[in-house]
Amino acid sequence: MKPNDGVEVLKGVGDARRDTLKKAGIATLSDLIFTLPRSWRSGTVFPLDPERVGIEACYELTVAAEPTVSFYPGGRRAFKFTAQDDAGTRVTVLYFHQPYLKGQIRKGDVFFFFGALREKKGKLYLFSPERQTERPDPDALLPVYAPLPGLSGKALSKWIDAALLPCLPQIADPLPERVRAAEDLPNLAHALYSMHRPESLAALEKARERLAFDRLFRFSVQAALFNRQTVDIKVPGMTAPKLASFTSRLPYRLTGAQEKVIGEIWDDMCGKEEVPPMNRLLQGDVGSGKTVVAAAAAFLCGVNGKSTLIMAPTEILARQHYAGLSRLFEGTGLPLYLLTGSTTKKEREALYEKTTRKEPYILVGTHALFEDSALCENVALTVIDEQHRFGVRQRDRLNEKGGAFHSLVMSATPIPRTLAMFLYAGSRISVLDEMPPGRIPIQTFYVGEDKKERIYNFLREKVEAGEQAYVVCPLIEDEEDTSPLQSAKEEWEAVQKHLPHVSSALLHGKMKPAEKDEIMARFKAGETKILVSTTVIEVGVDVPNATTMVIVNAERFGLSQLHQLRGRVGRGKIASTCILVSSASSKTVRERLQKLCSCQDGFELANFDLEHRGPGAFFGTRQTGFDGLWDPEILTMPLFQRAGRAARAFVESASPEELAPYEKSYHLN
Ligand code: ADP
Ligand code: MG
Repeated sequence: MKPNDGVEVLKGVGDARRDTLKKAGIATLSDLIFTLPRSWRSGTVFPLDPERVGIEACYELTVAAEPTVSFYPGGRRAFKFTAQDDAGTRVTVLYFHQPYLKGQIRKGDVFFFFGALREKKGKLYLFSPERQTERPDPDALLPVYAPLPGLSGKALSKWIDAALLPCLPQIADPLPERVRAAEDLPNLAHALYSMHRPESLAALEKARERLAFDRLFRFSVQAALFNRQTVDIKVPGMTAPKLASFTSRLPYRLTGAQEKVIGEIWDDMCGKEEVPPMNRLLQGDVGSGKTVVAAAAAFLCGVNGKSTLIMAPTEILARQHYAGLSRLFEGTGLPLYLLTGSTTKKEREALYEKTTRKEPYILVGTHALFEDSALCENVALTVIDEQHRFGVRQRDRLNEKGGAFHSLVMSATPIPRTLAMFLYAGSRISVLDEMPPGRIPIQTFYVGEDKKERIYNFLREKVEAGEQAYVVCPLIEDEEDTSPLQSAKEEWEAVQKHLPHVSSALLHGKMKPAEKDEIMARFKAGETKILVSTTVIEVGVDVPNATTMVIVNAERFGLSQLHQLRGRVGRGKIASTCILVSSASSKTVRERLQKLCSCQDGFELANFDLEHRGPGAFFGTRQTGFDGLWDPEILTMPLFQRAGRAARAFVESASPEELAPYEKSYHLN
């Protein structure tokens, strides 16, 4: 067996399973080996405790009542019973599609159950936990793999077992040996073995540290290289006009913070001689007025006869910027153009006609901007908005085209400075730490699920007053009886049932971009009053008439993410409300949600998250896919800093051959 062999060389993997694995991104044995466990299960017995919700654990429980069979929508049957631990704390246990359990589990029986505790409406659940009658070895550690669509974690485990030993010795270790030695980390084969089959907790911790370090190190080396590349390049310095020639066009006065940041940016780009290309990160909370800062940078370019590209992550945001900036630049003689995925070929050609002339322009668009090399003529500045996925890939791709641009990346996620310096190593950082005047603070409430009825009434009142609302639901992927979209779908059904005369719509990430844009456009136009969605609306959409944000299962989100979501409302002149709905009884969760009610400052919330949940909280990984490397106890700030230091030292001393594998776009994952 070789790492590059297809998975079909394994016993038990036929055509059908090969295809299923392939769909999940596992084509080769090497892919399989790099499919890391989501968590590990030990035989240590824990009491039932809401603080442990979501974590795999073992529970010794007595069946407290005779099991029954319940019917669920879709013809599903669940074998169901209540069980309790020593202290009398109760949990509902459900097994789907296993009617034969009748007779095997009876009132008074004692089992050791393995599973992750769930909480719904304030009650604890175990879904299809594994169970045994003999007391497990408290020191044993068994890997738990996330089930893939159409495959159980157990099947994966079996195949990994078969591939592991034959393949490991043939896997090359990408971490330079001297770095590995200096950092006292195990080699890759050893670490992978310990991840899948840990001999002890200490070995497992060391392996996780090594693999997490790997990711951070690779990211840091690439960031350092990227920033080094631009060091020797120089571009002609620009000449700054009077600030008033820009601000006189605005319908408001700049805040002190905006004025300061515009000054920093203009300073970077201006000079009598040549200057290094600007590489700046602009951080500012939602609504702090980042767009006008970008406009000022584009204005400077225009005055100097140069063009600007502004990239937004979605079509709707690109259109929003295009509309807003068109108004701002009206009559200046600096034209604005729009390019997105839905720009037709003919329109594109007309666009090239204009962009290849020497006259400066501002071109707003989506990723489509980067697929067109024809567009880089005379461009001096690129602005990337809402880049809060921490990939700096787009900026990188532009530079691959050989252009030397000033680069301004704008992030709406307030990132604590220590973390920002790692993620954007080499960038200078500007912060908009002052809100435009007159903003009405968003009232935030935290309520239990039993208050749903009142929330619907509140929504009805708001809609009757002519306002609009968002209802956001997390993706819930880890329960056997629900599909990831179930919670959003159920929520939408509930909204339709309670508010039958109100037009509402469902929006989720699995929809086609065109479909999403259309739903958003109708909401923006006020045709749809209530938008039920997964977190796809997180990114900068501006609908000033939306004044209420309801977040269901709020315990599933990090504070920064909740703050981000909350920032979707409170954009107009009407007082806005954010309602966090959660019945989680965990004390830490309650503290987190209460913090959001009392605090409107994104940086303060981000620091709270960093202290309590670690840097991993900023990647939203629990929402997007998760392996055992993103836990707060592994992904610590010291590890980030250690990897960053090691990477910078490595880049300084490494030969070009050693650096070659890193000369690619960089992003964390
Ligand atoms: P974000 O930082 O979230 O991108 P925007 O640039 O969209 O924020 O600005 C939010 C709103 O605040 C916009 O309606 C904008 O016109 C307004 N705004 C920006 N700067 C000021 C200011 N100095 N005074 C008043 N309103 C402002
Ligand atoms: Mg914005």
